[in-house]
Amino acid sequence: MDVTPILESLNDAQRQAVTAPAQPMLVIAGAGSGKTRVLVHRAAWLIDVEGVSPQSLLAVTFTNKAAAEMRGRIESLLGMPVNHLWIGTFHGLAHRLLRRHWREAGLPLNFQIIDADDQLRLIKRLLKNLEIDDSRWVPREIQYFINAQKDEGLRPKHLDDDGDPNRRQMIALYKAYEEVCERGGLVDFAELLLRAHELWRDNAELLAHYQRRFSHLLIDEFQDTNAIQYAWLRLLAGKTVVPFAVGDDDQSIYRWRGARVEHIHQFQKDFPGTVVVKLEQNYRSTATILKAANALIANNHSRIGKNLWTDGVDGELIKVYAAYNERDEADFIVGRLRDWIDHGNLRADAAILYRSNAQSRVLEEGLMNAGIPYRVYGGLRFFERAEIKDALAYLRLVSNRDDDASFERIINRPTRGIGARTVESMRAYARANNCSLWRAAGAVANDELNARAANAVLSFLHLIEKMASDAADLDLSQQIDVAIHASDLINFFRKDKGEKGETRVENLLELVSAGKSFEPGLADEMSLVDEFLSHAALEAGEGQADAWEDCVQLMTMHSAKGLEFPLVFMSGMEDGLFPHQRSIADPSGLEEERRLCYVGITRTMQTLYITYAEQRRLHGMDKSSQPSRFIAEIPDEFVEEIRPRVQVSRRLLSPGRRATSKATEAELGIRLGQRVRHGKFGDGVILNCEGQGAHARVEVNFESAGTKWLVLSYANLDLM
Ligand code: ATP
Ligand code: MG
Repeated sequence: MDVTPILESLNDAQRQAVTAPAQPMLVIAGAGSGKTRVLVHRAAWLIDVEGVSPQSLLAVTFTNKAAAEMRGRIESLLGMPVNHLWIGTFHGLAHRLLRRHWREAGLPLNFQIIDADDQLRLIKRLLKNLEIDDSRWVPREIQYFINAQKDEGLRPKHLDDDGDPNRRQMIALYKAYEEVCERGGLVDFAELLLRAHELWRDNAELLAHYQRRFSHLLIDEFQDTNAIQYAWLRLLAGKTVVPFAVGDDDQSIYRWRGARVEHIHQFQKDFPGTVVVKLEQNYRSTATILKAANALIANNHSRIGKNLWTDGVDGELIKVYAAYNERDEADFIVGRLRDWIDHGNLRADAAILYRSNAQSRVLEEGLMNAGIPYRVYGGLRFFERAEIKDALAYLRLVSNRDDDASFERIINRPTRGIGARTVESMRAYARANNCSLWRAAGAVANDELNARAANAVLSFLHLIEKMASDAADLDLSQQIDVAIHASDLINFFRKDKGEKGETRVENLLELVSAGKSFEPGLADEMSLVDEFLSHAALEAGEGQADAWEDCVQLMTMHSAKGLEFPLVFMSGMEDGLFPHQRSIADPSGLEEERRLCYVGITRTMQTLYITYAEQRRLHGMDKSSQPSRFIAEIPDEFVEEIRPRVQVSRRLLSPGRRATSKATEAELGIRLGQRVRHGKFGDGVILNCEGQGAHARVEVNFESAGTKWLVLSYANLDLM
């Protein structure tokens, strides 16, 4: 049998893992050392050489994209399709099992999956039916509680209130929620995993069937499995199914979602005789990138410790750019991207990474202005995010009371006790009288509704009227600010525990920033708010590249896990942003942030830019910030500062030197970060200055012409 294609381009350690006899294996190795590659080749090896049937393999990966990629790679190694191979995410595989065995799982044939939003709505309805005060028992907290229990494999009956009345109530609500789901045949995400686990645990025959069917279990990104996922794997493995897990403790970044890196140790206890393979050669990155990443992660104390090396070239230094502000940062990135593309590279080979979602807005704007197609990966573009649309709907309704779509979107968001039936009666009235929902609401409240519903509706109408009358005296960003606060949207999301709620709050505040920096172009033809709203609508609908189009990849550091790109930008590298403010004081939180930074750096194959802004307008506030401590943890020898922070400019700006020539006047007015317009090159931002008088030169980053040095006295720059 010709096994060369499968063993081709594997090093000795990788080959050892791929061809190992059937025994529990754990491959613990650093980024880019070929773990995923080993997993793919192991599958192909088992099928092709060991004669294992594809349907005897079960492979678990972290995302659907990774699963599809893995299947494709196995098929191309084997030169044939492997349809019967089960490969997917934990949720996907659990779902598949439950569909097959709905009866044994105690579910109706047509059970429905509910997402996080559905789940929350359901909890709210439940509280209302039970007449429980939802300001005291916050729906999002209940949701968090329920999911956290399920992730640990716990049903209400397993929980003890420890004499704590709060906890007792939470458990009671969990129980009530469970009953509602049971009656409605509803299954939430956490339930998928828990049910699939119970299915096997409580049906010995079924478990035995799958243990006979599957002989090998392949798991990628093992460091990020949570308790119920691990329990599920362990149950299936039993004493006969051979587990093969690959992971990297240094890349454990989902602790906040219940992932437990300790499973790496647990695995070796649960499967005695586990062979641990270490891969130490990195094939992804240049030596410079790799050494920088190694130096950074060495600052973490709780790690297994690995030695990662490469025989590749040193490559380019890591370039650190100190931007004047967030716009300058975006301009800089866009400029470098343009060079990249002009040199014939693929846009898709470039990724811009950021710590938090809200950062994407300014970057998106820069890319859009420059006409560079991009895709926000693993998330929605800024103006398409639900909370942003909510806030905009308030502005829209203030601007136009007859905007029915906006009316419907926010009439009960945040919840104000206006139920589906009330809204239905408004719709009926609007249909019968051919009027907008706004007018219908007033009429229905006065004539048809009971006192409670009528009050809720009237106070909503009043809220909007009040926003409208206040708006006259406010500028755009203040109006946005009022919309998110007076509507109570911000508190509504603030109550949401965990990253998701926090992200939504950050996004809302970022919308205020967007209002502050919005530059109107059509002030004569429409109001500023209307122009801003059209801008938002257009941005939401367009610009996102088509699936097939070659485009720059934007994503959070979290969603970049497992991926690799020749060119990477890590943006917003400032203390407070990354590491995130909330983690700075907590040593283990800081270590998790550092692992995330390690993930970011090690996505890079060739060229890495790290950027930070000295001033940043984010979440509606202007802040000056310090470069991320992680930058200082990278040894100087691997770093090149792109903009030497010259002080000349400050001298240039000294007010003592008044003169009359146009150039010198301009000199006096110039500051770094200032926006200027040039007759030929268009708009740009001043990055740098040097020299004096007739010799004074400025470096300007033009939006479409790139970065240029210009002699001030000839350039005829208009200040903007
Ligand atoms: P991560 O920790 O980021 O998930 P990983 O350990 O899974 O990384 P892979 O993605 O499997 O690493 O491999 C990184 C890169 O190195 C890929 O482009 C892969 O094709 C390449 N690679 C791995 N092993 C070899 C090898 N022996 N020869 C050539 N290229 C290799
Ligand atoms: Mg991988």
